[in-house]
Amino acid sequence: MKPTYLFLLIAALVAGLLWLYGSYVAKPRPPHKRPPGVTSPGDRRVEKTDAEWKKILPRSAYTITREQGTEWPGSSELTNEHRQGIYSCICCHNPLFRSETKFDSHTGWPSFYAPIVSNAVYNEADGNRTEVRCSVCDAHLGHVFNDGPEPTGLRYCMNGVALTFEELKP
Ligand SMILES: [Zn+2]
Repeated sequence: MKPTYLFLLIAALVAGLLWLYGSYVAKPRPPHKRPPGVTSPGDRRVEKTDAEWKKILPRSAYTITREQGTEWPGSSELTNEHRQGIYSCICCHNPLFRSETKFDSHTGWPSFYAPIVSNAVYNEADGNRTEVRCSVCDAHLGHVFNDGPEPTGLRYCMNGVALTFEELKP
């Protein structure tokens, strides 16, 4: 093999390894910044690094809430949950929605027309959609649309994996 080819081969290998390192290893993302003026119930706040979240959350919940993923429609049992109860953030247990505001949107995602209190969540622009995040820990929960039922006309389209459900017995 000519030395020039050997050199090119080694250079390509090194470039490949650097690319792999860059994609998988060396990228701690900065924590999400809550927009100014956003409040949370009781001023509660939970802040953790990505590594800390990764340790305590199931993998699917981590991908959705911390990396803005979207679950496969129809994949969450909570889409068809009809019992009375409270839906909370899986990351910080901030109560988010009441079963009374849940409705069947036929989208395959749990849908609500209003949060449990107005500052339980906050909205942020996400391209041409509006993203919904937990006001206590900034978890990505889903999106909100203007085609929901009365009384608000809103449709909070949530990832079930971002939520936990606690039944309230009558
Ligand atoms: Zn949260």
